[in-house]
Amino acid sequence: MNTFSSAAYARLRRRRVKEKDQKLVIVMGPTGSGKSGLSIELGTYFPSEIINSDKIQLYKGLDITTNKIPVIERLNIPHYLLDEIDPKKQPELTPLQYRLRASSVISGISSRRKLPLLVGGSNSLIYALLSDRFNPDLDPFSGSDPVCSELRYKCCFLWIDVSLPVLNEYLIKRVDDMLDSGMVSELAKFYESEVDELAPNTGLTKAIGVPEFERYFRCASANAHQRDDQVLRGVYDEAVKNIKDNTCQLAKIQMEKIQRLRNAGWGLHRIDGTDTFRAVLDGSKNWSDIWEKQVVNPSIKIVNNFLEE
Ligand code: ATP
Repeated sequence: MNTFSSAAYARLRRRRVKEKDQKLVIVMGPTGSGKSGLSIELGTYFPSEIINSDKIQLYKGLDITTNKIPVIERLNIPHYLLDEIDPKKQPELTPLQYRLRASSVISGISSRRKLPLLVGGSNSLIYALLSDRFNPDLDPFSGSDPVCSELRYKCCFLWIDVSLPVLNEYLIKRVDDMLDSGMVSELAKFYESEVDELAPNTGLTKAIGVPEFERYFRCASANAHQRDDQVLRGVYDEAVKNIKDNTCQLAKIQMEKIQRLRNAGWGLHRIDGTDTFRAVLDGSKNWSDIWEKQVVNPSIKIVNNFLEE
């Protein structure tokens, strides 16, 4: 081995040893399970900074469609890799690129003596960042490639689990709320001014809502002569139905991926959020008390123990 490669090897080894001591809290769970809310609760309790691991929320734009946590609700807790990438300049951040960027964000957070909190539902990004040996050519969720069970950091995983039928009911209602909050006009602007400048089927264009509404906007922009409002209404209803179906499908797949990581020995702490979601769906006013008792307090306890280890 020459001098250069042994020095480089020693540097790499030092970095890896340092990383292995670096503590990191990860908030996982399917779409809609309350990860962002829990991360803010943790971020106000422990001096921390948040790194996003939702592959669609990485990009600037489509804030309603992608369910980004509004700035005002972030309570001044710094967020990274959220609403950060300009999709016109970088249409898709690969898992390997995410690994490199997120690990340098983690080093920055730890140099400020804060706790890094990784929050988001994209298990492929979580895996790319955390697995000790990441091979971009393998897909650990395919069923045939192995899951690396050795981790790069000292990790504390909080997994918000919600019974799937209950979560589905909530997700369907959430789509209606998103529509009421202006999702269609946000998508209309995206179709008018952005979509043609983006590479098809990459990054932001894959957000649930974009492909589902394509036919609707095509029909809506047909000239008045050809347009039939009844047909348009039918196309709209179909788009909404597809969004609801695809969101529920996404939650199911995300849960299966989490289960796969768990089966491979990733030590996930399961936090059951089902009662909170039932209370929200029943219109019960005490849902936030249940959330605090069953999700926030146990999470704080787990993180406290982890930090004391
Ligand atoms: P996959 O390998 O299937 O892309 P993943 O773990 O990398 O899975 P997921 O977070 O499960 O990533 O996202 C899969 C797909 O779900 C995205 O490509 C997108 O279509 C949709 N999706 C995920 N997050 C969002 C979001 N915040 N808003 C809208 N759509 C989303």
